[in-house]
Amino acid sequence: MEMLNMHTICGALLMAVVLLALFARHSGWQIFTQKRGEWETPPPAHFRNAKWCPVCRGKLRIAHLCGRPRLACTRRGCRYVHWDSPKPVVLCLVEIAGRIVLVRRAIEPAIGEWCIPGGFIEAGETAEHAAARECFEETGLIVEIVGLIGAYAPCHDVNEIILVYKAVVTGGSIVPGDEESEVGVFNQAELPADIAFDQHRKIIAHCFDQTVIKPAELDCC
Ligand SMILES: [Zn+2]
Repeated sequence: MEMLNMHTICGALLMAVVLLALFARHSGWQIFTQKRGEWETPPPAHFRNAKWCPVCRGKLRIAHLCGRPRLACTRRGCRYVHWDSPKPVVLCLVEIAGRIVLVRRAIEPAIGEWCIPGGFIEAGETAEHAAARECFEETGLIVEIVGLIGAYAPCHDVNEIILVYKAVVTGGSIVPGDEESEVGVFNQAELPADIAFDQHRKIIAHCFDQTVIKPAELDCC
């Protein structure tokens, strides 16, 4: 009788293992069998802070998908993948007679340093509208977007792609926003030494060097 019970238990366990393997294969768990050594690039450092699926609250694990390590949900039936695409940011480069408008940050990161006004695009908003809106919120200046200067690639520690628009002032007056302590207007020689963010420094230098910002012939400001 005891022998019969042992056979029954072993059989049930074997069946459970087989069913679990079939279930895992069917539900996509096989994607987690890749070894770390097979990846061409290491997972981004910020992956370590993401642990849970925002859709089903299942556990996220690193999986090799579409040629890169990515975070994916492990829960059956949930196909959530954190693609980690760069987020677009808009900057508004306002030119006033050969000078540009910069804002001094009153919040972290880089509190006390200068940067180009800008921010994130709200849902349903165009990039151009977002650039003009952020500029007004941060400087008090009403601007008209006159062109796209360029799109700047993400840098290694910030997963954002920066769209830089050129703008001219059509109204308003300089009033720092809630997150700015000061608004300044600078030509290339007067640029402050403490400009925040590598990308902003490169964009400003590039715009002056490429004469995207035209040197003022009549410097009346
Ligand atoms: Zn999920």
